[in-house]
Amino acid sequence: MKFALVGNPNSGKTTLFNSLTGATAHVGNWPGVTVDKREGTYKKLKENISIVDLPGIYSLSPYTPEEVVSRNFIIDEKPDCVINIVDATNLERNLYLTTQLLEIDVPIIIALNMMDSVKKSGDEIDTKELAKNLAIPVCEISALKGDGIKELMEKAYEVAQTKRAGTTVLVHSDLGNLVKVTAEKLNDKQVSSPLFHAIKLIEEDSIEVSMHQDVLTEIEPLRATYTKNEFDGDFEGMVADARYKYITMHFNKIIKKANRNSNETTSDKIDKVLTHKIWGIPIFIVLMFIVFHLVFSEDLLFLNSLFGLEIRNSGWINFFTGMGYDGILEEAILNGEDAVLAGIPSLGVFLQSWMGWLTGSIIDLVRGWFANGGVDETWYAGLICDGLLTGIDSIFSFLPQILLLFLFISILEDSGYMARVAFIMDRAFRKFGLSGKAFIPLLMGFGCSVPAMMATKTLEDEKERDMTIRLAPFFSCGAKAPIWAMLATVVAGSFLGDIFVFSIYLLGIVIAILSALIIKAFSKKKDVPPFIMELPAYHMPQFKNLVAHLWEKLKHFLYKASTIITAAIILIWFLSNFEWAFWRGMVDDISESILADLGHVLQYVFYPLGWSMGSEGWKYTVASITGLIAKEDVVATMSQLGLEEGTIALSNAQIYAFAAYNLFTLPCFAAVATAKGESTKKGFLVTILWWLLASYVVSMVIYWIGYSFELFWWLGLIVVIILISLIIGLGFIVANKRKNKQEKRVA
Ligand code: GDP
Ligand code: MG
Repeated sequence: MKFALVGNPNSGKTTLFNSLTGATAHVGNWPGVTVDKREGTYKKLKENISIVDLPGIYSLSPYTPEEVVSRNFIIDEKPDCVINIVDATNLERNLYLTTQLLEIDVPIIIALNMMDSVKKSGDEIDTKELAKNLAIPVCEISALKGDGIKELMEKAYEVAQTKRAGTTVLVHSDLGNLVKVTAEKLNDKQVSSPLFHAIKLIEEDSIEVSMHQDVLTEIEPLRATYTKNEFDGDFEGMVADARYKYITMHFNKIIKKANRNSNETTSDKIDKVLTHKIWGIPIFIVLMFIVFHLVFSEDLLFLNSLFGLEIRNSGWINFFTGMGYDGILEEAILNGEDAVLAGIPSLGVFLQSWMGWLTGSIIDLVRGWFANGGVDETWYAGLICDGLLTGIDSIFSFLPQILLLFLFISILEDSGYMARVAFIMDRAFRKFGLSGKAFIPLLMGFGCSVPAMMATKTLEDEKERDMTIRLAPFFSCGAKAPIWAMLATVVAGSFLGDIFVFSIYLLGIVIAILSALIIKAFSKKKDVPPFIMELPAYHMPQFKNLVAHLWEKLKHFLYKASTIITAAIILIWFLSNFEWAFWRGMVDDISESILADLGHVLQYVFYPLGWSMGSEGWKYTVASITGLIAKEDVVATMSQLGLEEGTIALSNAQIYAFAAYNLFTLPCFAAVATAKGESTKKGFLVTILWWLLASYVVSMVIYWIGYSFELFWWLGLIVVIILISLIIGLGFIVANKRKNKQEKRVA
């Protein structure tokens, strides 16, 4: 048997789907998170039920991709039961879709979701009356808390055994007769769900008209008698009006609002601050900084950076900071000296040092085995110790920080805050002529570009879709995070680590916005379509959801590490340990290897970017190229080539430039393939060029600004002023060009 979950965006479909199937699909607070349908199995009934999570929709008309996917599924695949999820806190609006679903010949049951919120607010809903009124069963549930789900499924199973002919609330309206006559005509033609198709035909729905042109001609005279009213022949408006009238008329009997002193809920009050016109964006930036500070800072309380305090080695600090913290303590203890820490590390850094200590010990142990067995000179000992273990260890030691970062992002998301961010950004974007709807897939890019690019399906405009795909990788994904975490340990200064990582994320957003502006400037100006978004009430993040998100991340990471990353590590090990005539055995010095030769050639391409200069430059070049396989490989390759904390001799300007290059260049193969699949042909080519160009230019500019500052501060200032004037000048030229065009159009 097959049940379909249908409902408005944000009504809780995915939450219900996850709790029914045990899946960990992404629960989003914004529309467009589920574009494709998703299937899972519910196993707690007599037979296994396949559950399909459909994209959120407000109606069954074919205007958006979501509507088409959901509508086609219900009509063509005929599920045994449609579970219509209704957000009980938004009953009136949600029932609009319900009135349309009722018209299809399919068993339906209403899952009245979010009853926990309703009860909390003190409102009451007369479920029996609702069920009687619509003549279908209604079950109260809370998908989030897991209440009433078993009862819902049992009832749905019962309903699925029956047959149900469509009904419509329109029979009570003026349109009743027209609907009846049309449905009969379609019924004579053996059309299934005649009522549904009849109403769509009356509305002149494009799909329907092309299928039943003959019937439309037949009913034309009857339809004509309806055109002399306020709607002036707009049948779609007439039908919608009739639906709403019906709902409002019967609504008062169904819902009893609690007496509240004011209509302002707690969520509204919080929103007054968090979505404030002026403070909204600064608050978002501060919140993000706090997150990065908690994950990446080596000086949590700013003790060192602000007060110059140092922490001397002592037993409890030793534990508190992680035993091998920075290797400083350990070494100092061995030498019998006092170790000095520049501040109290954040939780992220603390976990990272413990993890580093753990993986480091394992490597030492294995190395010991080989040495004791006297085989540490063999090629396989090299492959295992210097290749695999070193490579994997370098990524693993950052895993706790990455998971912690995602925990914080999940909390922001699950509480409902990220939906507000999309809302705030929409408001800001609009000023630049960009739609905030594009910002939603972009926010998903913080997790992984692949689902972010797939989420662009919700954007109707092809150009907008191409552009969003192009910018998605600029929102630094989870796989890039180890690169920043590693570089954070080598930027000079004690509390710079968190600011460094934070600034990389910000840089990504800023360059994405700049790119969008540049791209828009060269395409035809169009009005930005309005963007409707439900802002769900804030709620405490659910432990279960957070764990599910993290588990998902961890699984994805382990899978990647054991497959594609390991393969890349082996390849790099081979290339860096053998010369072109590889049968002659391993090389003594890495500089004689194949990889060194390749790197030395490519190195020159990146010379202007700073980080590939010098005798070690080829290593950074090679590392950033292995990032194409998987971004984690950048770190793995660097450590295989001996570049780690302590051995990286780049200046801060070079580090920034290197980070920027890796952020903006081609994402991993998986993302490139997704981009190809989701873009237009021309759009994809531009995208590739854009990535190459953006990474090169931004990296170069950053390096030269940084370099100038490193030489003389005033030189840096001059460079910055020149750059800003260049950008402003360019803006003027583009704006003028557009003005001329518009004037021409007017003339
Ligand atoms: P979808 O768009 O229909 O798939 O909705 P989601 O499953 O993504 O849920 C939207 C939001 O509603 C999320 O923030 C959920 O945590 C929240 N939510 C879902 N079910 C419930 C519920 O029963 N009670 C409450 N209070 N919130 C819920
Ligand atoms: Mg969903």
